Amino acid sequence: MNASHNLINTLQEFDLGNGKQGKYYSLPALEKAGVGPVSKLPVSIRLVLESVLRNCDGKKVSEANVKELANWKSTETRTAEIPFVVARIVLQDFTGVPLLVDLAAMRSAVAKLGKNPKIIEPLVPVDLVVDHSVQVDFAGGADSMAKNLDLEFTRNRERYQFLKWGMQAFDTFKVVPPGIGIVHQVNLEYLAKGVLSTTLEIGNRKSEIYYPDTLVGTDSHTTMINGLGIVGWGVGGIEAEAGMLGQPVYFLTPDVVGVHLTGALTEGVTATDLALTVTQLLRKTKVVGKFVEFFGPGAAALPVVDRATIANMAPEYGATMGFFPIDAECVNYLRATGRSEEHCRLYENYYRAQGLWGIPQKGQIEYSQLVELDLASVRPSVAGPKRPQDKIELPNMKRDFISAFSKPVTESGFGMKTEELSRVVHISAGGEIHPGGGSQKSGTDDNARKSEREMANEHPTADPVHASAARLDGDVRNGSVLIAAITSCTNTSNPSVMLAAGLLAKKAVERGLAVNSTVKSSLAPGSRVVTDYLNKTGLSPYLDKLGFQTVGYGCTTCIGNSGPLHPAIEDAIVKNNLVAASVLSGNRNFEARVHQNIKANFLMSPPLVVAFALAGRVDIDLSCEPLGKGMDGAPVYLADLWPTLQEVRDAMQSALKPEVFRKLYKDFAAQNPKWNEIPSSTGNAYEWDAKSTYIQEPPFFTGFSMTPGSIKPISGARALGIFGDSVTTDHISPAGAIKKSSPAGKFLIENGVAAEDFNSYGSRRGNDRIMTRGTFANVRIKNLMLGGEEGGNTIGPDGAKTSIYDASIAYQAKGTPLIVIAGQEYGTGSSRDWAAKGTNLLGVKAVVAQSFERIHRSNLVGMGVLPLQFKEGTTAQTLKLDGMETYDIVGLDANIRPQQDLTLKITRKDGKVENVPVRCRIDTPIEIDYYQHGGILPFVLRQLVAKA
Ligand code: SF4
Repeated sequence: MNASHNLINTLQEFDLGNGKQGKYYSLPALEKAGVGPVSKLPVSIRLVLESVLRNCDGKKVSEANVKELANWKSTETRTAEIPFVVARIVLQDFTGVPLLVDLAAMRSAVAKLGKNPKIIEPLVPVDLVVDHSVQVDFAGGADSMAKNLDLEFTRNRERYQFLKWGMQAFDTFKVVPPGIGIVHQVNLEYLAKGVLSTTLEIGNRKSEIYYPDTLVGTDSHTTMINGLGIVGWGVGGIEAEAGMLGQPVYFLTPDVVGVHLTGALTEGVTATDLALTVTQLLRKTKVVGKFVEFFGPGAAALPVVDRATIANMAPEYGATMGFFPIDAECVNYLRATGRSEEHCRLYENYYRAQGLWGIPQKGQIEYSQLVELDLASVRPSVAGPKRPQDKIELPNMKRDFISAFSKPVTESGFGMKTEELSRVVHISAGGEIHPGGGSQKSGTDDNARKSEREMANEHPTADPVHASAARLDGDVRNGSVLIAAITSCTNTSNPSVMLAAGLLAKKAVERGLAVNSTVKSSLAPGSRVVTDYLNKTGLSPYLDKLGFQTVGYGCTTCIGNSGPLHPAIEDAIVKNNLVAASVLSGNRNFEARVHQNIKANFLMSPPLVVAFALAGRVDIDLSCEPLGKGMDGAPVYLADLWPTLQEVRDAMQSALKPEVFRKLYKDFAAQNPKWNEIPSSTGNAYEWDAKSTYIQEPPFFTGFSMTPGSIKPISGARALGIFGDSVTTDHISPAGAIKKSSPAGKFLIENGVAAEDFNSYGSRRGNDRIMTRGTFANVRIKNLMLGGEEGGNTIGPDGAKTSIYDASIAYQAKGTPLIVIAGQEYGTGSSRDWAAKGTNLLGVKAVVAQSFERIHRSNLVGMGVLPLQFKEGTTAQTLKLDGMETYDIVGLDANIRPQQDLTLKITRKDGKVENVPVRCRIDTPIEIDYYQHGGILPFVLRQLVAKA
């Protein structure tokens, strides 16, 4: 048990609301002692300050850290790093499994050193929610969900067995099994407590200390919890591992951008429209690496579920957090979602005692920058076709799609000829396609059937299943909606937009509208509570009728697990090079994210997803063109179907019922027989199975010794790839399909895995052999060394084109270090530790980019890869790099300082030498330690072993 301190007399008491007093570290006491103007700080900074104060031990966190943060200034050059000890960690399964693999590998390394493996144990509670694995193989049928769940368990059995081993091996590691919900929604509805407590020793007595709920999660959209006044954001798995092993999460003191919300949303406008508007506004404001804090009367009037939708999209606007302060709406939400009355009183009393109760009004806090938004100015919108920040007001959708169709690819267009826009392909194919089988009848030809089989083999799911049992009959053309998905915790956590979708579906069905069989529609709620209120309001049957049957409780289309389209449709798209569309209530629409063959992807609210599914196309102006004809033959417009605010409010009465949350979040293991049937191994150290293609001991601790290496210059490096702007973590380490012809596909086949059992890269993150082969293997990544050709290829040491993996092996065999060169925003997109781990295992020693995404930069350092940044105006293009050069990184030694300038020495093929200044993006002193130790894991392991 840890001992408490009473720094500056801040350990005080408050009324727990049950007649007893509780202890806490008081921020007002800090101010009273003259340490700093604490009550004037942004609320988000004050919450971090509480953690710094409480965890001040003179070692990891010093009194100077407390004083520095208590005197946060709205504008100044940011150099100080904050050591932030979080209260808990949340994980999803794609990122959580590799993290558990690393913990297991650390235990194995400790056992090999002759020590007790139990010294590796999470020091803060860890909750892993299995939500990323379910795929939409089946949709549009009453049994779709059960069939998808069956397949999920078949495909992921080994991973789930491993998770069950983790549950018994670690005391503080808990798992929410598959079929329960999506991590951020489960966090909001169940895991989050708002205030936590722990027992500490004060003098000789034990005492309960209360403190704010704070967390980091291994998923970018962890920020959803900011909507409930909880500080938390997404980090890479590597930082989360350090966090759970008692290390602070270090980050540079942030600027805090205040967004002053006024007014109220008008009739016809949803929280999703607001989130897309905020995303566009804040992208323009440039909030990368900053906290965003919403305040003012508009913020105070928003319910927590709307706040959560806006907060969820913080990664899309680039902020570390999109934070809403704490007020009565938060406690109302906690109460409505089944948290106990006693806890709600404690929660309110705690934040009142801390002076943190209520949404600040203008003038109370000095923010680094002020942004104004009148909620009444928000209009119904969508975002796309390629980026979440490209908002389009609904009436402009048709115009913008037509314009994007022929715009060059470099301007976010599709580079097609205008005259091709009107190309129509008629598809008439047989009814239900059975798993593993072909279509009953194809309206195309034998070639189509051949192609169908081929595609089934290339597809990770192996089961070519069409959305609907109905016969497929319709036209597919440029702009056709082929996927319509109500998906993503961004929206499914918000009953107002989910009920609006149900109400719109009801009106559409009553008017006689239907969704064409060419559209694969699906509904994937983020928790079972959604199903409960859609049933209670009587709206489920209408959604079902339009094909929006529930397909599972998980991420599905939002993460790209949209499953296969009907083979005849895929064939039509590929053969005719169609720019087909998806409409989804997700938050990401990068190329190939939603589906490999769907090029135009539009984000929108759930009711608009239903509307566009009905329209069947995106080149339509829904403000004046009808969605279709009703049963009376009259045109039906969106305005005829759109539910009023009052209708949504009436339906909301059924949505937030505490007893439903209590029932559905109780003892879910018992409610999940499939999970219970999975056997698990026991013991403190994991018994690795050399034959497993899912779980392997990673080589991060091979040859581990207690002495770290030294920092040295990098000499004679060659380029493994030269990339352009906006290379995403999905380009670097794809989550989706494994192609048969790729290095990972070949490896799986060599190891006896049939193509239909490949599963996705995301599900294979417990196996470094596959993930290293999959690094830079995204079919859409463009290597400028090959003239921008798509696919994970490069030029090997022999000058011939080869896969990036094979080139890396050849270079590593010669002892040649490698570098990667890139443009702006390198590593943008979801946090993905394998993007850094794979880079390391490919032998890449440095990445030189024009700019880096925050988490990916820190993950590179966390894996011992050096991030370097070109100076403004310098790029691979201005330097005319073609990848044939040799590179030295000069100035790198044991005296390196954060953000120091170094020299990139370029030796061209003809022997000419050029010295280019670059900034070392090791940003903080602790990162220098991580880099020296070869990464954060060896660093932490050496500390823990030394202490044991
Ligand atoms: S639904 Fe989407 S945003 Fe939410 S956790 Fe899953 S992938 Fe992330």
